[in-house]
Amino acid sequence: MATSSNSGPAAEHVISASWVIPVVPEGAVLEEHSVVIGGDQIVDVLPTDEARERYGTTTTHTQLDGHALTPGLVNAHTHAAMSLFRGFADDLELMDWLNNHIWPAEGRWVDDEFVRSGTRLAIAEMLLGGTTTFNDMYFFPEVTARVAAEMRMRCTVGMIMIDFPSRWAGGPDEYLEKGLALHDELRHSSLVTTAFAPHAPYTVSDEPLALSTLGLLGPTLAAVHMTQLLDGEIEAIAEAGVNVVHCPESNLKLASGTCPVSALLDAGVNVAIGTDGAASNNDLNMFSEMRTAALLAKVSSADPTSVPASKALTLATLGGARAMGLESRIGSLEVGKQADMIAIDLSTVYTQPVYDPISQIVYSADRGQVAHSWIAGTQLLRDGALTRDNADDIAADAASWGQRMRETET
Ligand SMILES: [Zn+2]
Repeated sequence: MATSSNSGPAAEHVISASWVIPVVPEGAVLEEHSVVIGGDQIVDVLPTDEARERYGTTTTHTQLDGHALTPGLVNAHTHAAMSLFRGFADDLELMDWLNNHIWPAEGRWVDDEFVRSGTRLAIAEMLLGGTTTFNDMYFFPEVTARVAAEMRMRCTVGMIMIDFPSRWAGGPDEYLEKGLALHDELRHSSLVTTAFAPHAPYTVSDEPLALSTLGLLGPTLAAVHMTQLLDGEIEAIAEAGVNVVHCPESNLKLASGTCPVSALLDAGVNVAIGTDGAASNNDLNMFSEMRTAALLAKVSSADPTSVPASKALTLATLGGARAMGLESRIGSLEVGKQADMIAIDLSTVYTQPVYDPISQIVYSADRGQVAHSWIAGTQLLRDGALTRDNADDIAADAASWGQRMRETET
């Protein structure tokens, strides 16, 4: 691993922690190390005593005893604005849940104001819980993109494709047209990017897909859920370099089946982790998602060595970055990558004693133990509080939406 750089931005800020977990190489734990930020990038990763000598006089310094520094978590599949439907309808069959609850409510409520409030709620929850990047798919993606840029959250917004009309677009042609316009608008944004996002085999017919994507199976495809893979399909997607986004808690709650993560990893497939929307999870907690992914892989393969803690952390960081085509920029703490990272306080009763910080992070830590986070070098969480937005205001706004919907729907 490179430990110093002679090019790139000048060092500005040294962050020293009891443990630095770079994710590359997988499983590495660097004791008493520092990550040095310059501009939006990581410019050095080195032992803290060396960092003091090299950067002591020219930079600011943050000492985080008892903390682990890791890459920010990457939520590789969600529908951020659906956080306003958290707990709206639970414990139902998928098609009953969609046809009789979620889709009618979306038809009534989802407009640009709804998406704005719901996305603010989701981003606040994700930032407070250590997520620094999310991959979104929802109506009004231009609103999601705008809110993410305002809150300085990194995300990819899906240019959604679905057969039926919504308040956002009347049909496949208009979805595609609006999506491409958004793609052009965001061309120069460093934090917010776009992806083509057909919804599901049950909502998108073959024609719009065939029209727009020749060679759908390839390294640029992130296939979500994958609970119904048949024999032979694992080899096919491995060969094509397709990424799989595993959403274990949503799959469990909707009884959708189990994604064969162990077999996919054995076949060499890149696997990422997503929460799915809060309407089917019911939170955007990548710590519990990472833990559930590790546990579910063991029980479903009858193999307790499947998806060990270090692998689970890789899936939740670099795996997500790869699935989103961002692995050259984020997903690990390496010189030249964007300074997207979180500091997790392991000094609390929940995670003591610490034999292996990666084990504590995956199997024991609560998301509330995330004390600090940075995205592109900007600190967005300090001592467990958002630096740019007021979480209480965001919660109050969500509560008022809930009040209105409850009065109308019942
Ligand atoms: Zn989903």
